[in-house]
Amino acid sequence: MEEKIIYIAGLGLIGGSLALGIKRDHPNYKVLGYNRSDQSRNIALERGIVDEATADFKEFALLADVIILAVPIKQTIAFIKTLAELDLKENVIITDAGSTKEAIVLAAEKALAGRPVRFVGSHPMAGSHKSGAIAADVTLFENAYYIFTPSSLTADGTIEEMQDVLSGLGARFIEIDAAEHDRVTSQISHFPHILAAGLMEQAWDYSAEHEMTNRFAAGGFRDMTRIAESEPRMWTSILLTNKEAVLERIDDFKHRLDRVATMIEESDDDAIWEFFNHAKAKRKEMEIHKRGGFDSFYDLFVDVPDEEDVILTILELLRGTSLVNVRINEENREDIYGILQISFKNAQDLQRAEQVITTNTDYKVTIK
Ligand code: NAD
Repeated sequence: MEEKIIYIAGLGLIGGSLALGIKRDHPNYKVLGYNRSDQSRNIALERGIVDEATADFKEFALLADVIILAVPIKQTIAFIKTLAELDLKENVIITDAGSTKEAIVLAAEKALAGRPVRFVGSHPMAGSHKSGAIAADVTLFENAYYIFTPSSLTADGTIEEMQDVLSGLGARFIEIDAAEHDRVTSQISHFPHILAAGLMEQAWDYSAEHEMTNRFAAGGFRDMTRIAESEPRMWTSILLTNKEAVLERIDDFKHRLDRVATMIEESDDDAIWEFFNHAKAKRKEMEIHKRGGFDSFYDLFVDVPDEEDVILTILELLRGTSLVNVRINEENREDIYGILQISFKNAQDLQRAEQVITTNTDYKVTIK
C-alpha cells in the first residue's frame, strides 16, 4: 500500500478526530500534527493521535503529501497564505475543515494560483460542544456528510484521492459548490444557532420578572436551545464569513413571524392549524428522520421511574441487540415517570426488546 505523509494543523476536536479516522484505515500513513498550545499537542502524542507534533506550523508542511487545516476559519485563511510562500511538495493536496466555505476557497484560489499544488475545500459535518484533542473521537464522522467544495485548484482525481485518505472515517462524501454550501448551511445550521441563542437570551431575561420560567422549562425548550451551548468564538466567525446568506435568512424569518402574529391577532384558527400541520407534515419528510441510511423509526418507549439503576437494568436486558440510541425524555413534573426512548437498527430487535423488557420488568412499554 502506498505510504503517505499527512499533516494536520490544529489538533482539536476536528483535527484530532480526522487523524484517528485516517489512521484507522491507513495505519501505514505517517500522521504529523501542529498545535500552538502544549496541552493538545501533548494529549495528541499521548493518545497516539499523531506520530509527531510541532509548535512550528511551517516545520512539517514541507514534508506532507496532504495538508489538512483544522483551525478556526480566520487562521485557516492565514495558514493558506503562509503555505503559498513555502516550497511544498509538488502536487500536495491542501484542504481544510472550516464550517463556511466560500471565504476559504476564494482565499485559496487567490493565494495558491499558479503554484504546483492542489486545493479542495472540505467541511466534515459533525461536531460537538466539546473541543481540544481530549475530545477527539474516531467515530465522530461516522455516517455524517463530508462535504467537498471543489475550486479551480481541484485537479481531476483530487477528491477521489482525499476520499481514499479519509475512508476510515465512515463518512458520506458529497460535492457541492462553496457558495451553495454556505447558503444551505445558513438555513439548516447557522440561522438555527442564532434562534437557539436568541431564545435562550429571551427566556433568561424574562425569568428576571417571572421566576418560574427557569423551573418550568422542560423537554421542548431544552430541544430548541441545546445548540445554544455551542462554542461562541467559532459561531462568531461562522456568521462573519457568511454574512449575506445569514442576513437574508433572518429577514425571511422576520416576515414569517409577522405572518404568524397576524394570524393570532385575527384569531384565524384555520391558518394557525395549517401553519402547524404543514410544519408537522414536512418535518416527517425530512432526512432528519434517517440516520446512516436507515429509518430511525424502530423506537421503543419505556415509562421509567426516576430511580437508581433503572436505565442500567434495561440496557443490561438489551445486551447484544442493534441498539443505536438511548434518550431520556424527562417530564417536567417530578412525581411522574420519565420516558426512555430506545432506538434499534431493525424491527426484529425492536420486537425482541419489547418482549424481554415486558417479561422481566413491570415498566410500561410502547411502540409507536
Ligand atoms: P477546537 O477548538 O477543538 O480546535 C481548534 C484548534 O485550532 C486547536 O488545536 C487550537 O489550538 C487551534 N487554534 C485556534 N486558534 C489558533 C490560532 N490563532 N493559531 C493557531 N492555531 C489555533 O475546534 P474544532 O471544533 O476542532 O474546529 C476546527 C475547525 O473545524 C474550525 O474551522 C471549525 O469551523 C471547523 N468545524 C468545527 C465543527 C464543530 O462542531 N466543532 C464542525 C465542523 C467543522
